[in-house]
Amino acid sequence: MSQQGYVATPPYSQAQPGMGGYPAGFGSAPSQPLYRQYGGPPQSFPAPPTGMMKPVSSPSGMPPPQVPSHYGSNGQQNGAHPQSYPAPPYGQPLQSPYHSMAHQGPPPAQQLTNQMGAMNLGYGPGPVQSPQAPPTSHLTQQQFQTAPPTAMGHPPMGPHSSQMAHPQSPLAGPTMAGPQSMGGPPPMGGMGRPFPGPPPPGAGGFQQPGPGAAGPPGHPQQLQGQFGGQMAGPGMAGPGMAGPFQGGAAQMAGPPQKKLDPDSIPSTTQVIEDDQAKRGGQVYTTNLRGQVPPLVTTDYTVQDQGNASPRFMRCTTYSFPCTADLAKQCQVPLATIIKPFATVPKNETPMYVVNHGETGPIRCNRCKAYMCPYMQFTDGGRRYQCGFCNCVNEVPAFYFQHLDHMGKRVDFYERPELSLGSYEFAATLDYCKNNKPASPPAYIFMIDVSYANIKSGLVRLVCDELKTLLDNLPREDGAESSMVKVGFVTYNKILHFYNVKSALAQPQMMVVSDTAEMFVPLLDGFLVNFQESRAVINNLLDQIPDMFADTNESETVFAPVIQAGVEALKAAECSGKLFIFHSSIPTAEAPGKLKNRDDKKLINTEKEKTLFQPQKAVYEQLSKDCVSQGCSVDLFLFPSQYVDIATMGDVATHTGGSVFKYSNFQVERDGQHFLSDLRKDVEKAIGFDAIMRVRTSTGFRATDFFGAIHMNNTTDVEMAAVDCDKAVTVEFKHDDTLSEETGALMQCALLYTTISGQRRLRIHNLSLNCSAQLSELYKSCETDALINFFAKSAYRAMLNQPLKTVKEILVNQAAHMLACYRKNCASPSAASQLILPDAMKVFPVYLNSLLKTGPLVGSAELSTDDRAHQRLSTTAMGVEDTQLLLYPRLIPLHNMDVASDVVPTPVRCSEERLTDAGMFLLENGCSLFLWLGQACPPEVIQSIFNVPSLAHVPIDLRSLPELDNPQSQKLRSIIDSLLDQRPSSMKLMIVKQKDRSEIMFRQHLVEDKGLHGGASYMDFLCYVHREIRQVLT
Ligand SMILES: [Zn+2]
Repeated sequence: MSQQGYVATPPYSQAQPGMGGYPAGFGSAPSQPLYRQYGGPPQSFPAPPTGMMKPVSSPSGMPPPQVPSHYGSNGQQNGAHPQSYPAPPYGQPLQSPYHSMAHQGPPPAQQLTNQMGAMNLGYGPGPVQSPQAPPTSHLTQQQFQTAPPTAMGHPPMGPHSSQMAHPQSPLAGPTMAGPQSMGGPPPMGGMGRPFPGPPPPGAGGFQQPGPGAAGPPGHPQQLQGQFGGQMAGPGMAGPGMAGPFQGGAAQMAGPPQKKLDPDSIPSTTQVIEDDQAKRGGQVYTTNLRGQVPPLVTTDYTVQDQGNASPRFMRCTTYSFPCTADLAKQCQVPLATIIKPFATVPKNETPMYVVNHGETGPIRCNRCKAYMCPYMQFTDGGRRYQCGFCNCVNEVPAFYFQHLDHMGKRVDFYERPELSLGSYEFAATLDYCKNNKPASPPAYIFMIDVSYANIKSGLVRLVCDELKTLLDNLPREDGAESSMVKVGFVTYNKILHFYNVKSALAQPQMMVVSDTAEMFVPLLDGFLVNFQESRAVINNLLDQIPDMFADTNESETVFAPVIQAGVEALKAAECSGKLFIFHSSIPTAEAPGKLKNRDDKKLINTEKEKTLFQPQKAVYEQLSKDCVSQGCSVDLFLFPSQYVDIATMGDVATHTGGSVFKYSNFQVERDGQHFLSDLRKDVEKAIGFDAIMRVRTSTGFRATDFFGAIHMNNTTDVEMAAVDCDKAVTVEFKHDDTLSEETGALMQCALLYTTISGQRRLRIHNLSLNCSAQLSELYKSCETDALINFFAKSAYRAMLNQPLKTVKEILVNQAAHMLACYRKNCASPSAASQLILPDAMKVFPVYLNSLLKTGPLVGSAELSTDDRAHQRLSTTAMGVEDTQLLLYPRLIPLHNMDVASDVVPTPVRCSEERLTDAGMFLLENGCSLFLWLGQACPPEVIQSIFNVPSLAHVPIDLRSLPELDNPQSQKLRSIIDSLLDQRPSSMKLMIVKQKDRSEIMFRQHLVEDKGLHGGASYMDFLCYVHREIRQVLT
């Protein structure tokens, strides 16, 4: 492609307007302007000293006093005030290393704009067009006008941009022509209104709550079908729809003119790099309401100053619209992704435990919110007003404290519950089941000893591993040993329980063959302390593989196994977790017997959804039993064929558990992968028998919940267990008008049992801004959180609606979000321009990637179990995990600096970034590939694999040989660090360019056309653009 062909005289020379869109509070140096309103000098807030049950002492380095009201009325704290934007908000433009357009003259951005022709891209709001623009909008506008181009080098589209539309656009084919070419009238009549017809209901497009999460009453506008029906106008149902999803390339088959430069469309890797450059290595203090945190991919440190760390809570937007009408108009989902037990680095604010004594934590009398930084003390400290419901409460005598001249309690900094966003309360007996103290949880290991597992060597592998693994059971900080008890069961068609009491010389086996009425044949000696019973347990673990070595039994039961675990925990009056190692579909005559119902003929039919619906009855009841006992189920599956994961995984995914899958398991090849998963799973931080409630300030409330959860009513999220990797996505809806002054407050309270049997309440508080200006909402959006919400809601919707409908709703909602931005927040420009909010500029690539994921793709080439597995796993993912899943990291290794510790910067996930002589690592949190170009230099191959050429590299290698040279060491250390960061282990797969195995790798190149259907990023962007134009017509 000739660059010169595209160079055009810049239409204007001044700095471009329209570069806003950076979120509220973005870029503020955390220690400087943030304190200004409190009158103190900039100071850092040293992490309070660690120590359980000790109030925070008042270190001298405390920040200047913060009055509780800083969450409320001070308009300056709204992240949108001008000070929040330091002069050049995006810093200097960084050239993408792949950018081929850099040269003198106009910024590359402008030239690219010129190239884009009919599909001009622009980011960021132009001057706010709203007639109700607040008095500050001129400031905002000035700010935008002086802003330099984004570091991406992408063009902001100002009012002039329409002049830049290139008549000879490479995309000016029929696809990108005006709406008239769309094949029929616009889907909705009513020209001239923002959204002709009644506005679609709310932000969420999916109406049918999935099982276990009934939609709340009081939102009748969300009736099923209303949205779908309305949106599925002719434009959607027509051929236009078929294009991008079923034959993306057709979209580009117009005039084969100059190919559009892929560097010119928004780049996720660039966005990640820019945020890292801008906010990486910094301290993020949480003292401001509505502050947008750094991206999940950025390396930052959090200092809790009154709002929960983004590690615990992340929002789709940090500025909620004031009214339900605005929310409906923009269709941006209002959601928070809560990871209550997220791992926090050692240098960040620890979780303090507060004890309010026998009467339990102080709570608002009316709404029951827990004492937190949003309670405002009045009347000389004798009363406090609840920030959530405004109720004025008496301060209990023991809790009384005087107020200082700022109206703040003098013990403010000594009490975590007044000064921090996250902390714990010690719970009293009122918070325990049957008012009895909780017991430490138990872990029960349940091993399928049928023929398949014996033959593969799995049983021996598990037994050997447990002998050492059980020394690493989780324990309370500072505790000498774990209080978790352990128990063992083996099974095939019948169950064997083991008495491993320490007093015994030999373990004793008890058999239960009546699986219809499951009971636990022994109470004493089944659940024991590992340290005390180590000898008996090791003896048992030695014997198990031999005991069943000659088995011919190939049939298994499954539901009775879980039932046995629940009964054992019930008898021991404790919560706990079942680790089940299972190989095949349970066909033995017993409750929960399953048959093979896999049917590829259902794919792309109305009935495809049935493949993902669990077989109810027995399993549904089992989930309920598990949750009420605090029994979480982790399922390790080793299938050689279809096992109906949709059903078998159902209990796990309603009890805070996980499903791990190792198809065609071979010990030599897959053993390490499985063992590292098992180790992580056994050792991870976790809470049991949990119930979570999300309270909100008046005007909005939590209406829907997604996660590995169970719900008996519309408000209480029950989790048999919740570990450090599990997240719950919560959607909010308005039920009244929100106030810009008071903002939107939320408090997540999680009651749970610790690993040592203490009952606690973990509290996370977060305050958001509210605005009557949609531009504020768009500025404060977070794409990574948005896509987490979209993924979870789509994966739930696919249980009830055809995939095609689910995908249409996704695209429609996205088009509405972006169209609304364009209409209300961007400066006027030609319809041919695609204008994206800065904070959402890579949303389309994520959305397209989601549409191409296994669960949604509808291809007979994918295994139903794999699709069901991915669907279930994603349901409990946090923002980090969905981000990586939907935009994998593709790391070039051939030019890496072996002397540096730094992992090479990832490149865009596209085939175009691969080079024949290159070597790349690709990871998405589930899979890890090492791709070798066919011209990969022999010396590189030699240094990594210790073989003379590419042809000699064995592709079934699952780990790299440990060679003593810098290349090998560096590569292995990169792989180790990636594996270390992820919740589950990833199997390393070696892929050679042009080999058959490359297909597996290529389906993760999410910017390219999908192997099983689905558009390329470029095509999808065109498609979304067309949809936007249709909405705006
Ligand atoms: Zn209240």
